[in-house]
Amino acid sequence: MYDIAKIRLDFPALDREVNGRPLVYLDNTATSQTPRCVVDAVTAGYYHTKANVHRGVHTLSVEATELLEATRRSVKDFINAPSAEEIIFTRGTTEALNLVASSFGGMVLGEGDELILTEMEHHSNIVPWQLLQQRKGFIIKVVPVTSDGSLDLDALRRLISPRTRLISVCHASNVLGTVNPIAEITALAHSHGIPVVVDGAQAVPHLTIDVQALGADFYAFSAHKMYGPTGVGVLYGRRDLLEKMPPYQGGGEMIESVSWAKTTFAALPYKFEAGTPDFVGIAAFARAIDYMRSLGIENIAAHEHELLYYTTARMMEIPGMRIFGTAPGKCAIISFLVGHIHHYDMGMLLDQLGVAVRTGHHCAQPLMHALGVEGVVRASFAAYNTIDECDRFLAALHRVIPMLE
Ligand code: PLP
Repeated sequence: MYDIAKIRLDFPALDREVNGRPLVYLDNTATSQTPRCVVDAVTAGYYHTKANVHRGVHTLSVEATELLEATRRSVKDFINAPSAEEIIFTRGTTEALNLVASSFGGMVLGEGDELILTEMEHHSNIVPWQLLQQRKGFIIKVVPVTSDGSLDLDALRRLISPRTRLISVCHASNVLGTVNPIAEITALAHSHGIPVVVDGAQAVPHLTIDVQALGADFYAFSAHKMYGPTGVGVLYGRRDLLEKMPPYQGGGEMIESVSWAKTTFAALPYKFEAGTPDFVGIAAFARAIDYMRSLGIENIAAHEHELLYYTTARMMEIPGMRIFGTAPGKCAIISFLVGHIHHYDMGMLLDQLGVAVRTGHHCAQPLMHALGVEGVVRASFAAYNTIDECDRFLAALHRVIPMLE
């Protein structure tokens, strides 16, 4: 039984008012709100177990280390990774993708080689590769998106060449909501001996993830989009690849021994975890995973889909409404424009009515270009949103549209 009233009690933020009206928070794709159990774990970490990890023999440090390593095991189970050593903590998806681009990309991509990305990528799965491209001189090829926002898999097949060294693709688009067929993509890529990096930032909050079933060679995601703390992310990588890769950053924790003559590096996962991690946040992240499990990921997805279908159907009745991304099985993200109304004006007026949506290019300017728009308004749903909130969002739309037309 999915008890939405009880779930909402876990999120104090949902109780607040904005501009004198009850908040309707529909910016979950950017970040979701945080339940009490996660905030309590952060507080407990700072109050009772704040000692630097991996370095101490004293009790507080041992406890803090155990909390961090317990989260690593929890993440491993959550995404069905083969081992905890393949789970690397980062600051977020962005840092995880920069790590792969710099370390793995730097190893496999050279002059004249080819990397395949897609038109629906977030800037964090574009710019790190472009930075590497400046140093290495490889070619970036881009898979286009079809009219409903699906990935053009035939085009992907055609883009693969003997020089293709790597494919990097999002599991779910933060604008279109499209869920890409990752298992199909990895099967195709692997049949050509090409590894696949998956940006899972928008999939992990909504789907059960099994990196082995997906066949992902790397899988990146952020805790703050899945009811967890800010500043924490994960890179899963296949052990044989991680072992061959050079470190991403140098510093404490990632070494085995240091001398002026020769420095050797720590074993996995520590080779990629230089410096003091956000160990308080990482410890609290385990509570976010517990929380998602307690609700049931399938239940969350079913609930969000109900909100998505309900809201989409009513939005389609609005004259001049354009919804970007209608692929079957999409996640609960609605990007839209109405007539010639500017996305920014729409967002500002909705905020006046207490409705939080995001406006702009959503860190996906190449996709905006492909869609022929400068920006869109985006409403996105999470486990705690209600049909009543959808109705308040729809009523707010009906109110602001005549004011802006
Ligand atoms: N990839 C996708 C698809 C995203 O939606 C986002 C954030 O919105 C990111 C990557 C970057 O995540 P972060 O800012 O947490 O590193």
